[in-house]
Amino acid sequence: MAEVSYINPLSNEGRQIIREYGDLNKIFEEDEQLIEEVMHTTNQRISDDSLIPKSYSDYAMKRIQWAIEKKNNKNFTQAEFEYLTNSELFMQDVVIFHILCQAIAIQFNVGSRETRLFIESQGTLIQERLAKIPPMARADIIDEVLDEVKTDGTIKWSSLKDVIASKKLKLSDLLIDNGDIILQSDDFLDRFSENFNDRNPERMYNILIGDNVKEQILSRLIMQKTEGYIQRIKEMSAHVEIHPAIIEIGERLKEFIPDEISKYNQYYAGSGGIYGSVQAGKLNPDAFPPCIKSTVEGVSSGGRNDAIVLLLTSFASYARLYPRIFASDETVKVSDMDPDLSITENEILPLIFDAADNCTPPLFEDQPQEKVNIISKLGFGMHSKVDINHEGETKWYTPMSCEKIKIHLPQLCHPDKSCKGINNPLSCYGRKKYQLDNQPKNE
Ligand code: SF4
Repeated sequence: MAEVSYINPLSNEGRQIIREYGDLNKIFEEDEQLIEEVMHTTNQRISDDSLIPKSYSDYAMKRIQWAIEKKNNKNFTQAEFEYLTNSELFMQDVVIFHILCQAIAIQFNVGSRETRLFIESQGTLIQERLAKIPPMARADIIDEVLDEVKTDGTIKWSSLKDVIASKKLKLSDLLIDNGDIILQSDDFLDRFSENFNDRNPERMYNILIGDNVKEQILSRLIMQKTEGYIQRIKEMSAHVEIHPAIIEIGERLKEFIPDEISKYNQYYAGSGGIYGSVQAGKLNPDAFPPCIKSTVEGVSSGGRNDAIVLLLTSFASYARLYPRIFASDETVKVSDMDPDLSITENEILPLIFDAADNCTPPLFEDQPQEKVNIISKLGFGMHSKVDINHEGETKWYTPMSCEKIKIHLPQLCHPDKSCKGINNPLSCYGRKKYQLDNQPKNE
């Protein structure tokens, strides 16, 4: 049977492996045992030597490369990374997982694109590994891992709000008793066996609680634990000295991740077709669609608050930082594009606050709390200032569609020819800005 730490590297067994690993300097050295094991992984492609990790540091980079390719590369080839699902490599994998968590914690913010990429990839890897374990052994290992992951003995459904919101799991798939999710057979039988007079409770358990649900929840819980672990390392790193090998891996990741993502992501690559390549750059008010022009000039009639807080805040931030949001299926945060938040503070917020001031009556004069709502729509929680430590407490609100504007703010929609055939002010802006940026200059 696969080891618990192969699924949960944060388990007691995983921690024991780390304690016994020894000198971290050797992660850059060629490791014969690692190479041997990778080469002997069933279905692993070995024809190209560059596919084989030669050291632990090499393996760490390839694990991140796998995460990026799996998410972005239409021609992703599993046979190039098959060793990531080889349970014989569990000890090496545990060490590399911990090295990556520590390097990511010291190099990136907890809510950053890089950290999210790693945490999400851990969840995917767990599910892929479980899928390769034969059903009987899989049920045993899931139970064993769940026993260890449940810290207070129960799993609250509220801890899975994100996964339910992502539609990967339906609330109706879960068996919930007093807020606790019932996953394991013992728990089910303890709570409900007396209720079944004419049916076998164990059979009912197998019918009601599917493996898919257990696997989803298990991977989600380990993702949450991984995030918590990275957060703790980040806090500790302010007080303890970090091993130079970890710092070195962190620096390599800082270069490696954008380089790899840029092969697939137009925002990083900076080229592509017209709608896929609308570039982030200084806002050009000449390209604003009529509804945005009217908002910036100030709204005097009804709808003032929504025009500033909902329409302009999302429009200005995405137009400045990530104009291709609707051509992308990525979840992004403001700091992914504006890491020190200087663009947000010096360009985006002044535009929004000026527009708020142009309103009659000026928005913050009678409703100063709307400043907090603006910050929250940028994804920084209910606070009066943007602060990286609060990012992620709320979602970065995406721009309203023309249809919604026509319903909720009809007084602002006076379409001109730039609005033809578009369904969102951001698309209108992208097209017009592209035309303005590319029109021939008068001599
Ligand atoms: S059609 Fe859309 S972009 Fe044009 S003014 Fe109306 S809401 Fe704005």
